[in-house]
Amino acid sequence: MREGWEAVIGLEVHAQLKTDSKVFCACSTSFGEAPNKNTCPVCLGLPGALPVLNRQAINYAGKAALALNLKINLESIFARKNYFYPDLPKGYQISQYDRPFSQRGRVELLTSERDEGGRPVEWKLKSFGITRAHIEEDAGKSVHDIGDPGKSYVNLNRAGTPLLEIVSEPDFRSSWEAYDYVNFLRRTLQYIGVCEGNMEEGNLRCDANVSVRPKGQLKFGVKAEIKNLNSLRFIQKAIDYEIDRQITLLEAGGTVVQETRLWNEKEGKTHSMRSKEDAHDYRYFPEPDLPPLEVSDHWIESLRSELPELPEERRSRFIREYDLTADEAFTLTGGRELADYYEAAAKSSANPRTAANWVLSELLRELKNTAIEISACKITPEDLGALIRLIDDQTISGKIAKDVFTEMFATGISPAAIVREKGLVQITDNAAIEKIVDEVIASYPKELEQYRSGKKALLGFFVGSVIKTSGGKANPQSVNEILKKKLQG
Ligand SMILES: [Zn+2]
Repeated sequence: MREGWEAVIGLEVHAQLKTDSKVFCACSTSFGEAPNKNTCPVCLGLPGALPVLNRQAINYAGKAALALNLKINLESIFARKNYFYPDLPKGYQISQYDRPFSQRGRVELLTSERDEGGRPVEWKLKSFGITRAHIEEDAGKSVHDIGDPGKSYVNLNRAGTPLLEIVSEPDFRSSWEAYDYVNFLRRTLQYIGVCEGNMEEGNLRCDANVSVRPKGQLKFGVKAEIKNLNSLRFIQKAIDYEIDRQITLLEAGGTVVQETRLWNEKEGKTHSMRSKEDAHDYRYFPEPDLPPLEVSDHWIESLRSELPELPEERRSRFIREYDLTADEAFTLTGGRELADYYEAAAKSSANPRTAANWVLSELLRELKNTAIEISACKITPEDLGALIRLIDDQTISGKIAKDVFTEMFATGISPAAIVREKGLVQITDNAAIEKIVDEVIASYPKELEQYRSGKKALLGFFVGSVIKTSGGKANPQSVNEILKKKLQG
């Protein structure tokens, strides 16, 4: 941030609720179908067609609202938001206005600025207000520049998919806070199973309202809205660009105009799209075809009881209970399945710290290399725990364990069976190790002489040779001790 200035950012996140059918009709919400296949008179906006509310969409919205500590209104009203756009067949969008589904939420999350290399500087717990979360339908999509240049097409497959629009308070002061918050929303909604959170497919999109003001000033500056940011990186870069653009403008004596802008990733800039509408331009009025949405306290409590432990709570607990760093816990709670896997392995191993190392390094690397999902991994968390116990009780060495792991990953065979079959049990018997040490020393007289005349670095060479001769089975600690003694002569 440039000296003397402060940014004020508010975020509107549109999360697609992952129902099988649309919010006011029975059309499928499946992605990638032929254009306009998933349509019917309701979502095409044909005269006389009437909307019928999708119960599952309301269940998902309810869970999301509770996870974000929002207050669910026992009665909410659907409203028509009127505007003309080619991808909006009815000429209005069914949304909610002065009586939304839920409001007044607050979330707490870890956030950090990043250094030049994109690494977090210092994680801090910060809380952000959520003004409201309301239910609305998505619009269709205009498609330009395919086939005949100059012609545009409309695909209404997406028209009528259920969205939860989550509107924040203007509580963010930097692009990284915005980044961490949207990532938090994405993780939370994925965790509770109400949104796929796939930003590339557009089922989580973000609009950012950005303004700047001289530091210390209470009054907000004029804001610009950046529309349709569909990746976390774009959110962060677009906001940074916009902050810089506005400060430059103001410092040169200019003024910021209220408008809607678009991020152009190729150029790394935002561009003006249109002047921003005020709410009264939409001529909201209650939707006459839908009754007020009424829910009960009993329904709210039953949804609450279905919620799992949320990712932020789980992350704090992992840090506390398992002695993990904030970064490690963040990765391990990235998805619910990975977090469940780690927790089961930690329990089974009786060594959560080592279990974290194995999951974060070996397991995630192999999964990535083979493009296998954690749910399809052949190693059960119990077997990973058993492998760690074999190292901890010195049955096998850490080095052998890596080979056993590779075999387990490929075959799903238990570590005990692999160790038994291949005779990999570690040699901890000192007499047996001494024998190998003697052999090795005898076959390297020149190196022995160099060692004794002061070239102590050769110890590593001898340790390596002994372990290699033992087929990797000699306990490295014993090898070290015995070698040091024998090499002294
Ligand atoms: Zn339909």
